[in-house]
Amino acid sequence: MQPALELDELRSGYGDVQVLDGVSLALMPGEIVALIGANGVGKTTLLRTVSGLVRATAGTVTLYGERIDKLPAHRITAAGFVQSPEGKQLFTGMTIEENLMVGAHNDRAYPCMKTTMEEVYQLFPILAERRHKLASTLSGGQQQMLAVGRALMARPKVLALDEPSLGLAPLMVDRLFEAIGEVRKLDISILIIEQNVFQVLSMADRGYVLERGKVMLSGTGRELLENEHLRSTYLGI
Ligand code: ATP
Repeated sequence: MQPALELDELRSGYGDVQVLDGVSLALMPGEIVALIGANGVGKTTLLRTVSGLVRATAGTVTLYGERIDKLPAHRITAAGFVQSPEGKQLFTGMTIEENLMVGAHNDRAYPCMKTTMEEVYQLFPILAERRHKLASTLSGGQQQMLAVGRALMARPKVLALDEPSLGLAPLMVDRLFEAIGEVRKLDISILIIEQNVFQVLSMADRGYVLERGKVMLSGTGRELLENEHLRSTYLGI
């Protein structure tokens, strides 16, 4: 089967600072894949490189077999790789529904905006209930759901989530992870960065561990949770 997303020996960084030193990984259609690594190892840089916000200096990125690493950022979103950024970046002075509409700004997503919005409302009923309220009136967890919902509005083939549970109370984290699991039903692959290593590997199909600019370890969520290096380095066990 063709991978939904494939990175082959991807290198990138900022000026003279090389952050990714040949990263190879793949997501199959409908898979949830976790990206694990210490602070500053380059997880966000990896997403930014795939999104076209940081240019790859070598290697390739393919989305369902199509090279996307040379495309401008807006064409990468339109091709189907959509990132929900760390820190939500919502328009708090706009309503929930208006925020969702902003997400459907590409040619592929716009014509089916109404259908997608209904799918998002089914995934996150709280957003439907409050659709005409300002985004600023939502709790932290609800705002994070709105950020995921807005990313879904772009009709991603691959959705990247950067630390979606950041700053949320444990109960909200559970609810959010449940909803992320449901996104799989929409046939979307998910690449997720999380500090919450135990929880994300419990949900993910597979995971990759980044160290020193490369993938040092990969496996199913369960395999990684049983791996001694992962347990001692990332779970403190
Ligand atoms: P965190 O979990 O803290 O977000 P991360 O794994 O996502 O970490 P990145 O944010 O990708 O790591 O950062 C990787 C490295 O690149 C770090 O050393 C960081 O200081 C550096 N870096 C990030 N953004 C820039 C930038 N705009 N200019 C220069 N260096 C940067």
